Amino acid sequence: MKIGILALQGDFAEHSATLEKLGIETRQVRLPAQLESLDGLIIPGGESTTIGKLAEDFHLIEPIQEFSKTHAIWGTCAGAIFLSKDVRRKQPLLGLMDITVERNAFGRQVESFEIEIEVSVLHEFDPQNEQPFHAVFIRAPLIESVDGTARSLASLPDGRIVAAQQGNLLATSFHPELTPDDRFHRYFLSLVSN
Ligand code: GLN
Repeated sequence: MKIGILALQGDFAEHSATLEKLGIETRQVRLPAQLESLDGLIIPGGESTTIGKLAEDFHLIEPIQEFSKTHAIWGTCAGAIFLSKDVRRKQPLLGLMDITVERNAFGRQVESFEIEIEVSVLHEFDPQNEQPFHAVFIRAPLIESVDGTARSLASLPDGRIVAAQQGNLLATSFHPELTPDDRFHRYFLSLVSN
């Protein structure tokens, strides 16, 4: 199995490190040809406008859309924004997931926070581990609504959605790559091998 990490901007190295610890081969993707022979793709956190603009410049939008038809893709934070259909403003998007996202929903960088959340799909997937997931939010987006066949995977205690899945597409507002808990990465790998 080989997983690509979109490496235009943002914390792609942290995703690679987590996957490599799991014994998974990774490849940094900056050009369409680098999607060749990958089994899945991760789009890291960073700045979604920058990632989108660079993806346009490197002619990656259409190849990634094509890739999604047969492969799993996971976006964390800015990556989740980039996967979405609607962010209520103009910026380059992949438009693959039927989710509406509000960028910077919690305010500025200083309003970043960490919280334990319950993610039932992780418990089903790894019943031995009953721990909640420690979620790191950095100028994070909220998933305002899940539409079509997208479904919520996790929310904050007040009910606001922070993770969603639509078939083989996964979006998290937070950064599992910044914590030692590798359950989300393993969950994503289970979608890849489906
Ligand atoms: N605030 C960034 C954006 O809107 C996302 C931040 C992140 O990826 N940690 O693109």
